Amino acid sequence: MRPLRVGIAGAGIAGLTTALALAHRGIGSTVFERAAKLSEVGAGLQVSPNAGRILEGLGLTAALDRAAVLPEAIDMRSGRTGEPIVTLPLGERARAAYGAPYRLVHRADLQALLLEAVDADPRITLKLGAEVTGSRQSAEAATLVVDGAAHEFDCLVAGDGVRSTLRSAVPGAAPFKPSGRTAWRTTIPIGIAPRDLPHQRTTVLLNRAAHVVIYPVRGGRLINVIVVIEEDWDGPEWSAPGDAAVLRRRFDADSTRFVSRFTGLDLQWTRWCLTEVDPRGSWVDGRIALIGDAAHAMVPFLAQGAAMAIEDADALATVIATAGNSVPEALRRYEAIRRPRATRVWKTARQAGQIYHLGGPMAVARDMTMTALGGASLLKRYDWIYGWQPGQDAA
Ligand SMILES: Cc1cc2nc3c(=O)[nH]c(=O)nc-3n(C[C@H](O)[C@H](O)[C@H](O)COP(=O)(O)OP(=O)(O)OC[C@H]3O[C@@H](n4cnc5c(N)ncnc54)[C@H](O)[C@@H]3O)c2cc1C
Repeated sequence: MRPLRVGIAGAGIAGLTTALALAHRGIGSTVFERAAKLSEVGAGLQVSPNAGRILEGLGLTAALDRAAVLPEAIDMRSGRTGEPIVTLPLGERARAAYGAPYRLVHRADLQALLLEAVDADPRITLKLGAEVTGSRQSAEAATLVVDGAAHEFDCLVAGDGVRSTLRSAVPGAAPFKPSGRTAWRTTIPIGIAPRDLPHQRTTVLLNRAAHVVIYPVRGGRLINVIVVIEEDWDGPEWSAPGDAAVLRRRFDADSTRFVSRFTGLDLQWTRWCLTEVDPRGSWVDGRIALIGDAAHAMVPFLAQGAAMAIEDADALATVIATAGNSVPEALRRYEAIRRPRATRVWKTARQAGQIYHLGGPMAVARDMTMTALGGASLLKRYDWIYGWQPGQDAA
């Protein structure tokens, strides 16, 4: 039997990890990426142990460790007063409990290390500046249309992100919807960052209708700041430059002591529309499978979007490796394996958003409950996310 031919749309975290996971199983692929150069899109990413273990299995441990900061803990604090609410212990505890550390990386660094591994693997062809504009399929094959030219494969993987072009080729796939929230991201060089910022930890500040996440990346040389607020905004692209005055107005009204330290600095902010794709729509049709944000984009309150893309890539590569002549059946198996898990994470991320953004007496009750529970018990509630193993279902 001749080897399977796999075409992948998108060289984001989902597409590159799929190519590597396939190569790891001896299967070659061609990745088409519309950007001419993979640039510094995004900012920090928390790579939780469930994703880290898969990347380590692809031989990326040393590269990850070079790129990552390992936080000692996550400190949850009141955004209004800066007072501590609870501390979730990470560091060695995360490695011991989940078999891989909790890592903080710059998204560009993660993409670069995946890219380096892709470039080093002769089974993978990466075509940059190659926009996928459509697809078609028959019982025997599937075709990607790239800049007007047809490329034939046995299987197509749509890792083309939340605004996926290929999603329209899957009947019953859910559309993307703005979540009514935006994320404002910046990085602060350590030299001008507020001095009392903890450097080896993740800090989460909970505010009414807003929250802020702060953590180090690039070996601690940059501090990554994400401010999530409730606002209806959607640009034609995923992100656009953001005017800090909007953030200042928002936080002045809430008289937040802590947050105004960042909004007051002269920084380049990028505003991201937080968009969702309901995972209960279809992910697969015949020889085409959606993966990552194209299948189930989620709000970032659990920091699991890229992690789910990495888990998808591993599961998809496993079923493709055993597909033989029955690619459509293998892809249906992928959907059946992944949907329960991705749906549970997607829903839990939404709930976390509601809890994070409470105000008034509800926020006071939340803070008291978190403090009473303690960090170790709170972290244990996420064992089903971080401790998950490939092949395990969502329960
Ligand atoms: C504020 C914020 C914070 C986040 N924090 C975390 C976190 O801490 N941890 C975590 O796990 N996740 C996090 N996420 C989520 C994470 O960024 C996404 O889930 C992840 O990047 C999705 O990867 P992807 O490869 O599916 O899509 P993308 O990263 O969007 O990649 C899609 C790729 O496809 C390309 N493409 C698109 N259309 C075409 C086309 N027609 N032809 C060819 N190429 C195309 C694009 O150029 C892009 O390179 C966060 C998200 C946001 C917004």
